[in-house]
Amino acid sequence: MSEVRTRIAPSPTGDPHVGTAYIALFNMCFARQMGGKFILRIEDTDQVRSTRQSEQEILDSLRWLHLDWDEGPDKGGDFGPYRQSERSEIYQEHVDKLVNDGHAFPCFCTEDRLTDLRRKQQEEKIQPGYDGHCLTLDKEDVQRRIDARLPHVIRMLVPADGKCIVKDMLRGDIEIDWHQIDMQVLMKSDGLPTYHLANVVDDHLMQITHVIRGEEWITSAPKHLKLYEYFGWEAPVLIHMPLLRNADKSKLSKRKNPTSIGYYQKMGYLSEAVVNYLGMMGWTMPTSSREESAEELFSVQEMIDNFDINRVSLGGPVFDTEKLDWLNGRYLREKLSDKEFIQRFGEWAFRPEIMHQIIPLIKQRVERFSDVAPIASFFVSGMPVIGETDFEHKQLSLEDSVKILQFIAWAVESLPEWHRDRLETLLMGMAGTMEIKVRDFLFPVFIAIAGTSVSTSVIDSMAVLGKDMTRARLRHAIDVLGGVSKKGAKKLESEFRKLGIN
Ligand code: GLU
Repeated sequence: MSEVRTRIAPSPTGDPHVGTAYIALFNMCFARQMGGKFILRIEDTDQVRSTRQSEQEILDSLRWLHLDWDEGPDKGGDFGPYRQSERSEIYQEHVDKLVNDGHAFPCFCTEDRLTDLRRKQQEEKIQPGYDGHCLTLDKEDVQRRIDARLPHVIRMLVPADGKCIVKDMLRGDIEIDWHQIDMQVLMKSDGLPTYHLANVVDDHLMQITHVIRGEEWITSAPKHLKLYEYFGWEAPVLIHMPLLRNADKSKLSKRKNPTSIGYYQKMGYLSEAVVNYLGMMGWTMPTSSREESAEELFSVQEMIDNFDINRVSLGGPVFDTEKLDWLNGRYLREKLSDKEFIQRFGEWAFRPEIMHQIIPLIKQRVERFSDVAPIASFFVSGMPVIGETDFEHKQLSLEDSVKILQFIAWAVESLPEWHRDRLETLLMGMAGTMEIKVRDFLFPVFIAIAGTSVSTSVIDSMAVLGKDMTRARLRHAIDVLGGVSKKGAKKLESEFRKLGIN
């Protein structure tokens, strides 16, 4: 058998997600155990949402967790480039081949027509999807439109009926009706590929043998398998892992749980405890005797040594932060000597990347080193210890504070880059739109972020804390103020939209 090659293929469109680390861990364990290679590929075909900052954070987070890859954009390798935005020509060649072979076709339908079509299909309660309109164009017409440079996408052909059997190593045969599968766009009008085309082409060219990914991709598998068939390639083995869940069993979401790996790093979890916990998601370490608990502490190396993909159970594993706290506490007590504790704590608290940002902010405000900790400790703490009374203010009711915090929480989500100037523009703009004096507007933000209104600039502080920690503190403050009910959230949302802040 050829060498096993697995990959993690994150899209750099946001915070580094714990789900990415979870899937990376299983890919890495599988590859290492089989003596194979684990590859990191950046899927940045969505040029609008992808950022280099997000890519950097993903790489840093996976490195922090010691999920080491053998080939990737930072390391190189024989199958590069490992960033999809640098592989455009490869996709173009492949899509041309599909069109020439009659497996894909140009589609000139306008956004308006497609919206209309969708609406009609909804009204008639039929399966939404492309109706094949551009398939009726004759060859000359297509050529004429292409020569006239009419904007168009390339769509793939899919069978109109019958079933696709997706073979999954863990789940067995999954039957999916072809009529549920849309004529997927493979190439967008800007000449960039969609996920589906780029993913299949790259998995093949990078000689990936096993695709281990989240179960949300099962419905994409028929399209992928069809593409392999069209190209005349052998498809890799597919393994769809169960999705991580919130405590209420819904898909893990940042609204209910911190999902950014950066948050866990900033909260002072040990990377080995986080990886151990991720390894317990849907997988159990074989135990040598009955007395031993299946939830024992194990290292990545132990996981690799004992790895068996068939031990993955498909029930949705709950990512429970309380359980992670408990596990991390065990690591601190059982795995670290006092000496190691001192060392690790020091490395964490004084990590240079944040010290270099904090010191310039506080230097002007201190006269002795002993002044530093009281004003800087909120940078290296968890949630500030605050109560409702901390938010009392002459000009703002508690509801006003909730509104301000919630609006900021929503607004910062769509910031493409986390940068102080951007934050400043955003917050100043919001205060103006909401017709609140900047000083008053920032008051609840100070309390939420620093726990006090006497602190370093709150915008600088948010910039240092990062989006994930800022989000967590805003959420915490909103909770302290009694939270927002579902109904309340709807009302706030419509008000937020009316303000047109984003
Ligand atoms: N870019 C996809 C993601 O962000 C990769 C999915 C896959 O592994 O095929 O999850």
